[in-house]
Amino acid sequence: MNIILFGPPAAGKGTQAKKLVAERGLIQLSTGDMLRAARASGTELGKKVAGIMDRGDLVSDDIVIALIEEQIENNPNAKGFIFDGFPRTVAQAEALDLLLSKHNTKVNSVIRLCVDDEALLARVTKRFEEEGRKDDNPESFKVRLGNYNAQTAQLLPYYSSQGKLTEVDGMANIDAVSAAVAKVLNKNGNGADVTAPVVKKGFFARLFGR
Ligand code: ADP
Repeated sequence: MNIILFGPPAAGKGTQAKKLVAERGLIQLSTGDMLRAARASGTELGKKVAGIMDRGDLVSDDIVIALIEEQIENNPNAKGFIFDGFPRTVAQAEALDLLLSKHNTKVNSVIRLCVDDEALLARVTKRFEEEGRKDDNPESFKVRLGNYNAQTAQLLPYYSSQGKLTEVDGMANIDAVSAAVAKVLNKNGNGADVTAPVVKKGFFARLFGR
């Protein structure tokens, strides 16, 4: 099962991806996290992308596609992937389809987290204060949102025409969003490998049949 978590910056994609990793044993592939890791370890790639990211612009398709390709190649036995922050352009979406088809798999479900712009701004403002992520400042955020609307939103018709897109209310609280995501995945028949938690009865419960 391969899932794309889709939505504007700060929509909650990373938060939901981490929950899906824990619940379904999928591998999260976040290009934003990969690029931040490259920066933190001071690689050439990290140095190259730092300014672009801080401005809120998109890193080139070639770079992010190569990062994703490497991860798909490195995880041949994955049960599936959760793509978070990728694809962001039509070229990236086409490259992803090609990469997955080489491994006899495909994108199964695209979940769009819908959050209005004011709420997004409130979230990044809070994150900026708490975590100090440079691109969470109001100017960079404006650029990120602009890029999302101009380039990434073009992917909505790309996936809806394939019948893969479902919208979820991303304004709800984290657990409610997770529940809505789970409902979509289970309904699509893609959640069949979710194992229900085994509730072990305690000694007295077993003894008294409760
Ligand atoms: P968010 O979704 O909160 O905006 P991310 O952590 O996904 O943040 O991405 C941070 C930055 O990393 C982006 O603003 C961009 O500069 C770069 N980036 C991440 N993923 C991609 C991608 N798929 N294509 C181009 N640039 C990307």
